[in-house]
Amino acid sequence: MTAEDLLRRYLEQRREMGETELVLDALSVEEVMKLVGIKRGRRIPVERARPLVAETEGTHSAGEPASAGWREALRASGVAPEPTRAPETIRADDAPPAPRPPRSAPFAEQVAAEPVAPTAPLVSPPSGLVVGSAEMVRVPGVIGEAVSLDQLAELIRRCTRCDLFKTATNAVPGEGNPTADFMCVGEAPGAQEDATGRPFYGQAGQLLTKILQAVNLTREEVFILNVLKHRPPGNRNPLPDEVSACRPYLVRQVELVAPKVILALGTFAAQSLLETKLSIGKLRGSVHRYHGIPVIVTYHPAALLRNPAWKRPTWEDVQLARRILDSASA
Ligand code: URA
Repeated sequence: MTAEDLLRRYLEQRREMGETELVLDALSVEEVMKLVGIKRGRRIPVERARPLVAETEGTHSAGEPASAGWREALRASGVAPEPTRAPETIRADDAPPAPRPPRSAPFAEQVAAEPVAPTAPLVSPPSGLVVGSAEMVRVPGVIGEAVSLDQLAELIRRCTRCDLFKTATNAVPGEGNPTADFMCVGEAPGAQEDATGRPFYGQAGQLLTKILQAVNLTREEVFILNVLKHRPPGNRNPLPDEVSACRPYLVRQVELVAPKVILALGTFAAQSLLETKLSIGKLRGSVHRYHGIPVIVTYHPAALLRNPAWKRPTWEDVQLARRILDSASA
């Protein structure tokens, strides 16, 4: 398959997912499509469009390895030029750009190097959605009767409430401090998580670790879990029935850990937790409540790998979550 085919498939996928912007040497999706001669509205057959990112880390955490591959292939084929100038050098004043720290640098450093628009002075964030009362709902049956996270994890490992267990290698119940004040909720396990049984273990997980470190939290201090406990095949989006089947585990986990703040990572986690269809753009920046617990919504780390421009807003969200944690602990 040629680099153009690879790029075409990748772009079709991104466009079908509703993305309008692609961080590729300062070119937009439409510009790149024009560059490789893809007409607006033209689609390639679905079966050809599927497996590009599938087995690396998937939708949740997959974009980067595959996209890095096609970028290189594209450059090698001469369709895309070598980046002779960093994207930030293409600006009116043509001032020399500040050197960007590598992606492996600590998260706060990466963000500090991003160009920023002047921000409004710090004000109290607005209150957002409220799900449930301060009382947790009583989860019926054995899940509600589980008295520890370990017991719950055992139930999750034996779970047959939906079909995902049939295709998964391992269940991924979640891990961390059982009495954590800070909880991170993701979407669903990807390939690496499925292989290891540990949440956020792949590339997106490594970025999450850095994001936490940037606000002086370690993975061991927090509790990390997903809405779904088994990997959807090929990292497809979770189905409503799967979310409903898995929900009692999430509810009981939140009840047992009783964190002081929850960070919802990405649209899916936010919408599931807050029982809403509102977009991440609308949900960010407010303090929502899930049974009395403050919930801050931010971008999924896998989305940041694809779109580094979201690192700064993420940094603001995570700092807000940290401030809430500090004031709750004071
Ligand atoms: N993406 C998620 O949402 N969760 C994981 O555990 C890994 C990737």
